[in-house]
Amino acid sequence: MKDKKLLRAIKSIVGKENVSTSPEERVCYSYDATNIKYLPDIVIHPHKVEQISQIMRLANTYLIPVVPRGAGCGFSGGSVPIRGGISLVTTRMNRILQIDEENLTCTVEPGVVTGELQRAVEQRGLFYPPDPSSLEYCTIGGNIAEGAGGPRALKYGVTKDYALALEVVLPQGEVVHTGSQVMKSVVGYDLTKLFVGSEGTLGIITKIILKILPLPQSRKTMMVIYPSVEKAATTASSIIRNKIIPSCLEFMDNSCINSVEDYLKAGLPRQAGAILIIEVDGSPLQTEKEMELISALCQKEGASQLKIAASAQEAEQMWKVRRSLSPAIASIRDIKINEDIVVPRSRIPQLVSHIEELKRELNVVIPCFGHAGDGNLHLNFMYNKDDQDEAQRIHRALHSVLRKVIELGGSLSGEHGIGFAKAPYLSMELDTATINLMKSIKKIFDPNNILNPGKIFPPDEEE
Ligand SMILES: Cc1cc2nc3c(=O)[nH]c(=O)nc-3n(C[C@H](O)[C@H](O)[C@H](O)COP(=O)(O)OP(=O)(O)OC[C@H]3O[C@@H](n4cnc5c(N)ncnc54)[C@H](O)[C@@H]3O)c2cc1C
Repeated sequence: MKDKKLLRAIKSIVGKENVSTSPEERVCYSYDATNIKYLPDIVIHPHKVEQISQIMRLANTYLIPVVPRGAGCGFSGGSVPIRGGISLVTTRMNRILQIDEENLTCTVEPGVVTGELQRAVEQRGLFYPPDPSSLEYCTIGGNIAEGAGGPRALKYGVTKDYALALEVVLPQGEVVHTGSQVMKSVVGYDLTKLFVGSEGTLGIITKIILKILPLPQSRKTMMVIYPSVEKAATTASSIIRNKIIPSCLEFMDNSCINSVEDYLKAGLPRQAGAILIIEVDGSPLQTEKEMELISALCQKEGASQLKIAASAQEAEQMWKVRRSLSPAIASIRDIKINEDIVVPRSRIPQLVSHIEELKRELNVVIPCFGHAGDGNLHLNFMYNKDDQDEAQRIHRALHSVLRKVIELGGSLSGEHGIGFAKAPYLSMELDTATINLMKSIKKIFDPNNILNPGKIFPPDEEE
C-alpha cells in the first residue's frame, strides 16, 4: 500500500498485528472457490464493530474499495477484491454470544463457523438447519451475505428463513440494527431480508440473531442407485407429488459418482446412472413410515438398489460422499464453471434431459449434482484451459442451459449468488426496471461505490 498515512490510520484503528500488506498474506485473500485471483492492497482482521465503522469512514475519505470476507469459500467471487483495496476479514469476530433456550434464538458474531454453531446448539437439544456443504469452514456472516442454503432447505428453508435481526455497519460508517429478536415484527421495511443475499455490497454484518428449532428426535438416511439420471429425476418429482417432504433429497450423476469414488474409495457403483441420497426426520414413527413410502416409490420408479443407513456412522458416510463432490470433481478438467441454477422441481426431468442431450451433441463434460428436492442443481461446466475448441463447446452448452432454465421458469442462482462471476447473465433473468431499482438501492447505501464494487451488476451497468 503506497499511502503511508492511510496505512498508519488503519493500524491505529485495529492494531498493527491485525493489518498486513505482505505479498504472502495478500495472496491468501485474493481468491475464493471460483479460484479467480485479484490481490487486495491490504488485509485487515477487525475484532469489533467500532473498528469496522471507523475503517468505513476512512475508506470513504480515501475512496478505497472495501471487500468483506468470511472464509472465502464463495462460488461466485463475492469476496474477491477485483478492484484491490481492503480485504476486511471477519473470521476473528467468531463468538457465539448467546443461545437462548427459552426463546429459541441464538446471537452470533459473523465469523462463527456454521458447523460449530450447529454443534453448539445440538449439545442443548436444539437445531440450526441451514447446512451448506461447506459448513465445516464457511461463516454465518458469509451465509447471510449469500443467502446460503443446503440439502435441508427442502424441508427447513434457507439462511434467510432463520435471520431475525442484524447489526450492520453501512458503507459510510453508521451502525444500524434491523429486525427484532422476537418471532413477529412488522415495524418498518424488512431490512434484514434486504441484507440477506446482498453479497457484501450494502453493509458489513457484525452481529446476527438467528432462529433455532428443537432438534428432531430421529433421522433416517438412505442411498438409492439408478440406472439413469432420468429415472432418478422422475423419482424426486414423484416423492414430492406424493406429498412427502424429506429433510433432504440430493442427486448426483454418473460423472460425479466416478469422481467421488476416485477421491474417497467409498465403494460406489461406477456403472450407475445416478444416485439419490434421501433423509427424513421427525418422530421415530414418522421417519419409519416415510422411509417405507419413499422406498416403495423409488422401486416403482426403477431404482436398481436401495440402502438404508443402519447407524449414524453409516449415514455420515453417505453425507461424506455428498459433501466431497465439489473437491472430487475438480480433477476432471483444469477449469470448472460452477452454476447453481434452480427450476420448478416438477421440471427437473426436462432440464436433465436437455443437459444429457447437450452432452451428447457437443461432446462436453457437465458433472451435475445438487438439491433435487427443491429444484436447485449444481452444474459444473468443465474444460481444459489449453483446449480452445472444448472451451467454445462448453460455453455454448452453458448459454443453452441458462436459456433453458429461464424458459422453464427457473432462476440462475439458488444459493451461490451473483458476485462478479455471474454478473454478465443478470439481465437474462431480471428486467431493466428491476435492475435499475436495485442499482438505486445500492447508490443510497453506498454513494461512493466503495463497498465491494463490481459485484452483482455487470461493470458497464454499475453507475
Ligand atoms: C465445497 C463447497 C461446498 C459448498 N456448498 C454450498 C452449499 O451447499 N450451499 C451454499 O449455499 N453454498 C455452498 N458453498 C458456497 C459457500 O460456502 C457459501 O456461499 C458460503 O456462504 C460462503 O461463506 P464464507 O464465509 O466463505 O463467505 P465468503 O466467501 O468469504 O464471502 C461470500 C460473500 O459474503 C460477503 N460477506 C462475507 N462476510 C460478510 C459480512 N460479515 N458482512 C457482509 N458481507 C459479508 C462477501 O463480501 C462475499 O460477497 C460451497 C462452497 C464450497 C467451496
